[in-house]
Amino acid sequence: MLTFDFLDARHGDCFLVHWGPSGERVMLVDGGPGGVYGATLRGRLRQLGDPPHVDVVCLSHVDDDHAGGLVRLFRDMRQAQQDGEALPYAVDALWFNSVEDLVDRRAPGLSASVRPLMERAAADAAVGASYRQGRDIRNAAGPLHLDGNVPFGGPLTEGAEAELADLDVTVVAPDEQAVRELEERWREAKAREDPGVITAGYTDGSVPNLSSIVLLLRHEGRTALLTGDARGDRVLAGLRELGLLDGAEPFHVDLLKLPHHGSGRNVDTDFFEQVRADHYVISADGVRHHHPDEETLRMLVGSRDPDEEYVVHLTNHIPFAEEELARLGEGRAFGVDVRDPAGQALLITIGDRP
Ligand SMILES: [Zn+2]
Repeated sequence: MLTFDFLDARHGDCFLVHWGPSGERVMLVDGGPGGVYGATLRGRLRQLGDPPHVDVVCLSHVDDDHAGGLVRLFRDMRQAQQDGEALPYAVDALWFNSVEDLVDRRAPGLSASVRPLMERAAADAAVGASYRQGRDIRNAAGPLHLDGNVPFGGPLTEGAEAELADLDVTVVAPDEQAVRELEERWREAKAREDPGVITAGYTDGSVPNLSSIVLLLRHEGRTALLTGDARGDRVLAGLRELGLLDGAEPFHVDLLKLPHHGSGRNVDTDFFEQVRADHYVISADGVRHHHPDEETLRMLVGSRDPDEEYVVHLTNHIPFAEEELARLGEGRAFGVDVRDPAGQALLITIGDRP
């Protein structure tokens, strides 16, 4: 059985995946923006035990709406360690890609030579927050013995695989082309000695989106595709390269977390035609950004036959999205599930196959 707790991550992502005979194995994916840690995540983790045991923390990419809460979680762990106290969480592994590690995988040493420009680019608010959060998490990981992306042993890129107590994890993205696009940007910044090249990549979202980790989880015949803020075309490319998508049949998963909070900029009709799910999850609040875009909902529903049964889950009450789904739902069989505002999490259970 796979179960998911999608927490109220506001405009970001923060969720737990449970598996194992009684759901005792736990993966934490992202931490939402900083405030989500104190408001929701810390309390939810404390319900897991004393200390709570987490098999792996995965940060999909270093951007405030995913990393902020994890920065605080690791800060708490480091503080306890420095004070000689018991650690508040027993975390076995941390998976995350820094953009620098990805760039260096293709071009060793390139990120170090661009670092002075990076420091100048970090004066920009959008770059600076992300740069510092990546640095904070990396600095905490060493003393907490969580560096090295165990068992991957390096950046998580397309084709990497791991097995975690009967949970098979396959990395779908970033794929080689995404890493190449990052490398080219770093090379261009270096050649032009222009930090603006990097700043632009953060401001338009291309750097965080290209570096976003996409995971395919498989457990006892059940599957989930967790897409971070990746671009839909890169997710499809990764699935094709893995031989999971042949262009003839769509790829079916039990659960799909939509990329980038349902932004219409990350997906197109082709994405939904190629990837089908029984449970579509949109982690967004519609407040900070107009997520999910109504166009995304139209593409999703338009990709399915009217009599097909599936559920669209929203982690928050979003009036404009719910109105669009109600309109689209006329004459169609799909269901809509919105997190109860009084509840801590949107719970989705995917039972064993009979
Ligand atoms: Zn995001």
